[in-house]
Amino acid sequence: MKYKMLGDGDPIRLFVGGLHGNEWMDTSDILEGLTPPAVGSLAIIPIICKEKYVSTLEESYYRTLGRPIIQAVEALRPSIYIEFHSYSKQNQKLLTGADRIHKTGVPAYSQLDNDVLLGSVSPVIRKDYFPAESLCLSFEIQKENRISKDYGSKIAEKMKECLSKEHFIEQLTKRYPEQTKKVMEDYRNFYGL
Ligand SMILES: [Zn+2]
Repeated sequence: MKYKMLGDGDPIRLFVGGLHGNEWMDTSDILEGLTPPAVGSLAIIPIICKEKYVSTLEESYYRTLGRPIIQAVEALRPSIYIEFHSYSKQNQKLLTGADRIHKTGVPAYSQLDNDVLLGSVSPVIRKDYFPAESLCLSFEIQKENRISKDYGSKIAEKMKECLSKEHFIEQLTKRYPEQTKKVMEDYRNFYGL
């Protein structure tokens, strides 16, 4: 198995970075720097693939490059699954624009502080591999932006202590009420959860 296990017991979280192309450069350190959670366990895969870029929205991603993710999900059955991606500044509008749903078929990302974006994971993995009560999120760190990456690390530190979907909503609502509302609405509308 390719994942590294920190801590033990429930809840089980799985954090994945470096999913495709050069994204590992801005996401792998974030995961490698994590220490065991106070409660439960955290499995991390800092790098899935360093070269090829295949979008996680493609049906084939999780069957090919992303196969280690599926293997980890099947072995661990995590209740919290988080992907750490990175994006180029010039794509920011595309990712956060209200028309993303029409252009790509998936909901737009929400803007958090320091150009970190929050969204849902690809329906390809969400629908087939996780029950409704799981929490599946995707964070996008801005490429070559130290402040964005540092903030991504801070978020990862917080998220590794997350106990459940309800706990996450409660915590995130304090700081990002609008964004939390949007992410949960997208969840309901898009995934029917
Ligand atoms: Zn990505």
